[in-house]
Amino acid sequence: MEEKRFCTKQVYNEILFETKNFKVIPSLGSLVEGWLLVIPKIHYISYGEITDVTLLEELDMLLNYVCNIIKIEYGEYIIFEHGPIEENSKVGCGVDYAHIHIVPIKLNLDLINSLSQETLQWANVESLHSTSSYTNSGRAYLYFQDNSKNCYIGTKEDIPSQFFRRIIATIIGRPQIFDWKTNYFLENVKSTYARLKKYKKLCAMPKRNEYA
Ligand SMILES: [Zn+2]
Repeated sequence: MEEKRFCTKQVYNEILFETKNFKVIPSLGSLVEGWLLVIPKIHYISYGEITDVTLLEELDMLLNYVCNIIKIEYGEYIIFEHGPIEENSKVGCGVDYAHIHIVPIKLNLDLINSLSQETLQWANVESLHSTSSYTNSGRAYLYFQDNSKNCYIGTKEDIPSQFFRRIIATIIGRPQIFDWKTNYFLENVKSTYARLKKYKKLCAMPKRNEYA
């Protein structure tokens, strides 16, 4: 599974919001309703590879816009990314194409540490932009933003795949169904799309040249 996952005509590939360089779709394997992916339109292996300031500003604006909607519709949310530096590594979640997850769920670092059997080194960082220093120095990472917008980057020699999905599956009481490759949760994908599509009509995301 690589970028083809994002290109087929399925409900999980229906674009809800987009800017010139990014699009937002409901996530295949949504363990909870309201789970979205933010994907760049051209290939990067992870967001740490994006250093263009214009692109990062556009991304921030889109994230702001989408997260406000998620907050209104679903309440508290988190943002995370599995940041591989090379293809077919375990750290990713099986998709070697940059994507940020936005998930409406209550979660903070203490809970992650208490639920995970893995010991990661977490650093408090300013924002998602901080991931580039990890990618630049050849380190795979996990990025996590909690409900209070505290941002962290976690590293470890051998980061397990689908790290955050395992945690979220545990929180909802179904730890054995964490793997999106065998658990699509299409009902959640469809209800996310149905609930959020009104914003698509009412509030089309401005194109870059319209808000510059
Ligand atoms: Zn992922």
